[in-house]
Amino acid sequence: MRRVFHAFNYREVATPTFEELDLFLAKSGPGIRDEIYDFKDKSGRDLCLRPELTAPVMRYYFASLKSEPKPLKLFYFGPCYRYDRPQAGRYREFWQMGCELVGDGSSEALAELLQLALRLFEEAGLQRFVLRVGHLEILRSLLESLGVPRPDQPPLMRLIDKKDLAGLRQALDGRIGAARSAEFLAYFDLDSLEAIRVPPDAPGVAAAISKLQAVLARLTGFGADPKTIRFDPTIARGLEYYSGLVFELDAPDLGAEKQLLGGGEYDLSGVFGERPVAAVGFALGFDRTLVALQKGASFAPAAEPVDVVVAALSESGIPVAQQIGNALRERDLRVELDLSARGAKKSLGRANSLAARAVVLVGDQEVAHSKAAVKNLVTGEQVQVTFSEIPRQLEPWMRAALR
Ligand code: AMP
Repeated sequence: MRRVFHAFNYREVATPTFEELDLFLAKSGPGIRDEIYDFKDKSGRDLCLRPELTAPVMRYYFASLKSEPKPLKLFYFGPCYRYDRPQAGRYREFWQMGCELVGDGSSEALAELLQLALRLFEEAGLQRFVLRVGHLEILRSLLESLGVPRPDQPPLMRLIDKKDLAGLRQALDGRIGAARSAEFLAYFDLDSLEAIRVPPDAPGVAAAISKLQAVLARLTGFGADPKTIRFDPTIARGLEYYSGLVFELDAPDLGAEKQLLGGGEYDLSGVFGERPVAAVGFALGFDRTLVALQKGASFAPAAEPVDVVVAALSESGIPVAQQIGNALRERDLRVELDLSARGAKKSLGRANSLAARAVVLVGDQEVAHSKAAVKNLVTGEQVQVTFSEIPRQLEPWMRAALR
């Protein structure tokens, strides 16, 4: 996953495990206190163990990175703590990996971020997952047009986030009447952007739909598999600082706790008394991802191509093969040692099954002449080379394979 973040030009940052309680109260409201580990330190300061890393990373951004060239791309990996009721896939201490992209809210940047999220799981070898994408402005603008002003929406958004549609119906019926409430709830049965009927007095809806369409079109341009991506109007993400695009990624093979990743566009500038800046990010549950990867058939860790198989063909070849293996590993080659001395045929078979680029064979003959048989498995070329010359012989073959 680190390799994928680097490939997308994200820089790794780390922040302290302790944070000031006020940071999360300002971000999420007083209710968050029930969900986190907070305590006083010896000087009476109100501290807590961080429940997530977006607020800490943005604190770091506003304190120290504001003048860096934009867009700024940061990622993190660290333990988080929540006063949750532990259950399968839900822990009090767990690891999150995630990222924040600051200073670019364009469709292209959002699509690239979604592509990054998909790549992380593809590279990890997860075979079944679904990315669900929505836009908060659709929900907010619709609610407004039906008679719920924005300041009154947060409790409703929290019900939507919890997928408590019965509770939502009850709250809406009481507030805007059963007919309008049904009109809003019908929206939750939609599974395509095109099916949305745009009310004339909700201008935000049309704008949000065309933004989402643009993002999804760009995402397809990255080669993302459309079968793994779905429009989901019910993503609310509970908290007010989320602003536009929102998304979640699930592993259908997991039970109740199947959400591996959540994210969206947000604005935390108010928490730090700063000017607004475009920001979007996501966090994935690392422990939960491991559980998903370990679920029977879906576990297929991506295999790295082996550079060289070094095989001893006989007892006397073993110490020589060990030394050649050491020398090649010191040069950062990925080496598979085969010390089973089962003969050339078996060793070549193993090298082929590992898709190795080259094989080095050391049997009695080779030991007697201080030379090894070195074979390029891409071109078929084979040469006899003195032991110390082996790294030099392999070097151009490895470079050719990289091209
Ligand atoms: P959140 O910060 O709540 O959006 O969570 C992002 C991701 O972190 C979720 O999709 C989960 O995969 C993971 N996560 C959240 N809470 C927990 C927990 N208590 N235990 C394990 N993973 C969690």
